[in-house]
Amino acid sequence: MKEIILCRYGEIILKGANRPEFEGALTRELKRRLAPYGRFSVRRAESTVYVTPEDGSCDLDGAYETAKLVFGFVGVTRAAECEKTMESVLETARAYLPPLMGSARTFRVDAKRSDKHFPKTSPEIAAEVGGAILSAAPRLRVDLHHPDVMIRVEIRDRAAYVHAGQEKGAGGLPRGTSGRGLLLLSGGIDSPVAGYMMAKRGVEIEALHFESFPYTSERAREKVFTLAEELCRYCSRIHIHVISLTRIQEELRRSCDEEFFTLMLRRFMMKLAERCAKEYGCRAILTGESLGQVASQTMDALAVTDAATDTPILRPLIGMDKEEIVEISRKIGTFDTSILPYEDCCTVFTPRHPKTKPTENEILSQVAKIDFDGLLDEAYATLYTETRRVDESYL
Ligand code: ATP
Ligand code: MG
Repeated sequence: MKEIILCRYGEIILKGANRPEFEGALTRELKRRLAPYGRFSVRRAESTVYVTPEDGSCDLDGAYETAKLVFGFVGVTRAAECEKTMESVLETARAYLPPLMGSARTFRVDAKRSDKHFPKTSPEIAAEVGGAILSAAPRLRVDLHHPDVMIRVEIRDRAAYVHAGQEKGAGGLPRGTSGRGLLLLSGGIDSPVAGYMMAKRGVEIEALHFESFPYTSERAREKVFTLAEELCRYCSRIHIHVISLTRIQEELRRSCDEEFFTLMLRRFMMKLAERCAKEYGCRAILTGESLGQVASQTMDALAVTDAATDTPILRPLIGMDKEEIVEISRKIGTFDTSILPYEDCCTVFTPRHPKTKPTENEILSQVAKIDFDGLLDEAYATLYTETRRVDESYL
């Protein structure tokens, strides 16, 4: 019996004339992600990608788990493929399904026939397959309303498929179909979640991290690289650019009013991010900011942050509560790393009473106290880049 993986795509179906471009990006990404698990043929038909192992050495379990992480698919399932005859479908159902049903007590069969030349109707196919399962596994019962297991039989273009239980895919849009974005990645809970959410919308993620040696430590930096590695499960590969803010922060402390430290720092961050985004082909800056979460994320503070740059700043968490962000962070597996207690440059020299209703004029008068452009150039010159990837297929 031949077992394959069926991956169904969602939103891409609505893409009209651009659909082939999205489909191409989706299958290219899937192929690269499957490469470590052996040789597979990948074919598209009827809004489904068919992943077929080319030889017995393929790791189908690994391929299946990975397919569930690829953005663009809404459902992923393992299926037995067989000839398009009723005998073959019944024989396959009897052999393939009972071992998959574990402790289930009830099931339902749904049949779908996209090949209308098949001699039986969908209800007839479902009834016959149901009967075959009952005779192969008499402990099971049919329950049409609340089945433990949903079995599907599909008569498609080239073959028939039998499977039990489709799992949710990662959803979203294929990697890169929304362009590239520069994620401001701190060691906190929010920014990795922001990166995940934008990657889900098809953005290829490039990261920028700011550090402030010796006020921030080697371990704080390693933590950020670990977060980037964890995000690679969804983003496949991330270049992490690192810039030192030490000189800027020391200068701010020396020359600016304390209540503006954080806002001025964020101004520098956005200016540096803008340069980095231009150099590395990123169309937007992505942050983990959420309205009202801290003093630098009030509406007025966000307005003066935005005024620093013409590059769009996308904030996918803007309307979310911390609890909701934490829930996603746990789901995507970055939470335990995020809560490791290392310092961030934003927590160095924090003002006791930060300004929450700043105006652009107040910020400009702070900017006038320092050599803003000189400090910017000096900081940008410290940029270096590390790369993290999901595996060597992403070299
Ligand atoms: P996070 O939990 O992601 O650290 P936060 O709630 O602590 O966010 P801030 O420290 O105000 O909030 O930072 C807001 C956003 O600014 C972060 O989500 C991140 O996008 C960016 N940011 C903060 N610190 C850094 C840093 N050291 N390097 C890069 N980006 C940063
Ligand atoms: Mg932070």
